[in-house]
Amino acid sequence: MRPPLIFAVSIRRFRLALILVIALGTLALASSKEARAPGSDEAFPLLGRIVVVDPGHGGIDPGCHLDDVTEKEISLSVALLLAEELGNLGGKVFLTRTADVELSSFGRSMRTRHGRDLEGRVLLAESYKGELLVSLHVNAANSEKMGGGMVFYHPGSFESRKLAASILKHLREVTPGDQNAALPADFFVLRRAAMPAVLVEMGFLTHRQDRAVLVSPQGQKRLAAAIARGIEEYLSVDPPLAQEDRVEAGVPFLHLYGLGTDGAHECPLILSQSQPGSQVGGP
Ligand SMILES: [Zn+2]
Repeated sequence: MRPPLIFAVSIRRFRLALILVIALGTLALASSKEARAPGSDEAFPLLGRIVVVDPGHGGIDPGCHLDDVTEKEISLSVALLLAEELGNLGGKVFLTRTADVELSSFGRSMRTRHGRDLEGRVLLAESYKGELLVSLHVNAANSEKMGGGMVFYHPGSFESRKLAASILKHLREVTPGDQNAALPADFFVLRRAAMPAVLVEMGFLTHRQDRAVLVSPQGQKRLAAAIARGIEEYLSVDPPLAQEDRVEAGVPFLHLYGLGTDGAHECPLILSQSQPGSQVGGP
């Protein structure tokens, strides 16, 4: 019969083992913060959560534009600020782009460059193992009166709908307007994303107050903070929403958007405000 293991261990080895046990204990204590359940840290409510932020358009695709202001620039600026906000809350944030580029090289199966660009955004979000996909956009309309932030979700995703309502609740404080709503839409990115996904139209370039928010550094910071707050609330166990913040299904939205061949949203043709009569908007 073999002697018990403890007798086989010399004093020297015992000391070594003791040091190892103490060292491992210290390591476990040091890493206990990382080991906590996601969202359980008050100072870092998004610890362990993964959010993918998608700045809409980029490269040869400016998105909506009015005079020299382009949607692709605004969406990237706010995305970088949003990543900072979420990072400060402990979240792990991935951006689909951090420069003025389009993403069609990441797409695989779609026929058109635009389709592959949209597909690339979804595939990137999946490769990052994102829990949420938040795509940032800027709106435009033929009427200068139409204004306000909007959030779109796929009608087949209840979680996306909850996320949309949570973001809208704060976004409407920054870009209030008659179009404020969380609405269902069959946009490609929303339809194809495997995780809860929303498309945030932060405001209208063609609306004076919205545009002032969209183009100013302070306004962009407020937009990022509002969207981050909505994401944080959604991720921290679904806070109850006030009646006026609940989304209404079935509200018409096609008056604003033409659905492209790939199901992406298109900007309406809008008039340049400094050069009346010229068409500056486009798909
Ligand atoms: Zn857009």
